[in-house]
Amino acid sequence: MEIRRFYIENSDINGNIAEVSGEEFVHAVKVLRQKVGFRIILNAGDGFDYFAEITEILKNSFVAKIVGKEKNEATPLKGVTLYQGSLKQGKNDFVVQKAVELGATRVVFFDSKFVTEKKVNVPRLEKIAVEAMKQCGRGDKIVIEFLPFEEASKGFKGTKTLLFYENEAENHLKNIKLSGEDEINVVVGSEGGFDESEIKLAEKRGAYVVSLGKRILRADTAAVVALALVTDKIGGLE
Ligand code: SAH
Repeated sequence: MEIRRFYIENSDINGNIAEVSGEEFVHAVKVLRQKVGFRIILNAGDGFDYFAEITEILKNSFVAKIVGKEKNEATPLKGVTLYQGSLKQGKNDFVVQKAVELGATRVVFFDSKFVTEKKVNVPRLEKIAVEAMKQCGRGDKIVIEFLPFEEASKGFKGTKTLLFYENEAENHLKNIKLSGEDEINVVVGSEGGFDESEIKLAEKRGAYVVSLGKRILRADTAAVVALALVTDKIGGLE
C-alpha cells in the first residue's frame, strides 16, 4: 500500500509525537481512511521526511508516533524564485503547480503595467502548492507572495536574475553561466508582457534580460520552459 504523506507545522511535533488536525486530519481520516497502525510520512516544511505510525484517532485530530527521520530527496538544493506577472483565468493556479513540480522554492506574483488580473488569492495558491508538493514528494514549503513590480524587483538585487523578455533578440540562456549560483530569480511577464520602463528598472536592479527564441510563447508556457531550463542548468533535474 502506498504510504501517504501529510503536511503539518513544525509546532505540531512534540518530541516524537505529532498531532495532525485541520484539513490534513479530515483528508487523512475521512477521505483516505487512514487507521491506527498505518504508516505515514509527515512533512513539516523543513526538508525532512518524518516516518510515523498512527497511534490514535480522535474527533478532530490524529496522533502519530515518529519512528524515523530522513532528508527528503525531492527538496531542491538551490533556491529558485519565480517572479510571475499575475495571469488570468486560473493560470496562476497552473503556474504554482508547475513551479512546485519544477523545483521553485518561492513564487512572487507581481502587478505590472500590463497585468489585468489584480486579485491574487495567496492562501488559495498556498493550498495548491501543498497539493503539488505532496504529489511530487517534496518535503519543504514554498513561499507565495503578491507584490507590485516596483516592490518585487527589489528582490533582484544581489541574486542572479534572469528576466525573460519577449522583445529580446540577442541574449540567450545558453550564454549565461549559472552553475555556481545557489540562488536564482526567474522573471516572466503576464499575458501583456513588459513595458520598456519595467525592463529598464529590472536591469538597474541587476537583472539579465534573456530571450526564449523567436516565437512568442504564452506566459504560462514561458514560465514552465524558463523554469525547466534554468533548473536543468543548476543541476536540479539530476
Ligand atoms: N503580449 C506580449 C507577449 C507576452 S508573452 C507581446 O505580444 O509581445 C508573456 C511573457 O512570456 C513575456 O513577458 C515573457 O516573460 C515570456 N516570453 C514569451 N515568449 C518569449 C520569448 N520568445 N522570449 C523571452 N520571453 C518570452
